[in-house]
Amino acid sequence: MEIFKEIAPLRQRLSKLRSQDKTIGFVPTMGALHAGHISLVERANKENDITVVSIFVNPTQFNNKEDLEKYPRDPDADFALLEKNSCDIVFAPSVEEMYPEPDTRVFSLGSVAEVMEGKYRPGHFNGVCQVVSKLLSIVEPDHAYFGQKDYQQIAVVKAMVRKYMPNFEGEIVSCPIKRESDGLALSSRNVHLNPEQRKSALLISKTLFAAKEKADSGATQKQIRDFIKQNIATDANLCLEYVEIADKDTLQPIAGEYPKNAVICITVYDGKTRLIDNILL
Ligand code: AMP
Repeated sequence: MEIFKEIAPLRQRLSKLRSQDKTIGFVPTMGALHAGHISLVERANKENDITVVSIFVNPTQFNNKEDLEKYPRDPDADFALLEKNSCDIVFAPSVEEMYPEPDTRVFSLGSVAEVMEGKYRPGHFNGVCQVVSKLLSIVEPDHAYFGQKDYQQIAVVKAMVRKYMPNFEGEIVSCPIKRESDGLALSSRNVHLNPEQRKSALLISKTLFAAKEKADSGATQKQIRDFIKQNIATDANLCLEYVEIADKDTLQPIAGEYPKNAVICITVYDGKTRLIDNILL
């Protein structure tokens, strides 16, 4: 496995591989890697000759300074895990390498980026678009893999690529959520949970699974929303930030057939840790 910290030598290496007709799969991450990230690496390995993983905690997507400072970082463990899982190339740049000068670009993507995470984390998706557009331009992958754990992020990235990167020839690939055996969605932020909060966190996925069953057997959107709110409120550690039932493609209130075209997205504070999860109906 090769590790690059700078853009120019990485691009040289990739250009050589491309000239040998190698296809490139790319998995952008912020490190603190877990089995969720590895599921994307496995998919990239399966579908491409070369797998590139980036590790970069992107400051411009954090709307909260404390969250950025607290974000878990363990590059050596990440490199070891990637090596074990047949990653070929790691790109782990510094902030100065990625942003030699401040990135002042403003991405205007309309409603898909304004609801849910867009509303509760102002500036977040603009930062995501800044870093993802740079990374895709640097790596120029044939396929770039994103997890449905960050459901809205995939819709935003696809919209960004369509509007701002018309010459990008790769494909944005959406991959299923990897969960713990008890249902909790894997997240780098789970390390912040103490054992009691970890128990509480389980209620989030349980509630989503139960909500899906109710929707499948005819419950209305209001019934589902009320059920989720009431369920989350039963645990003193949990505080619901929002729950939305949205069109799975536009993320707006459902225009198509319900529940078939819907996704439920939820954000819950578990103590001070902000957890997101979602389920397709
Ligand atoms: P992050 O390091 O949290 O920015 O995540 C990097 C990529 O891994 C994103 O595309 C995430 O959606 C994806 N990811 C994170 N957690 C999971 C998970 N539990 N299952 C599948 N993909 C995930």
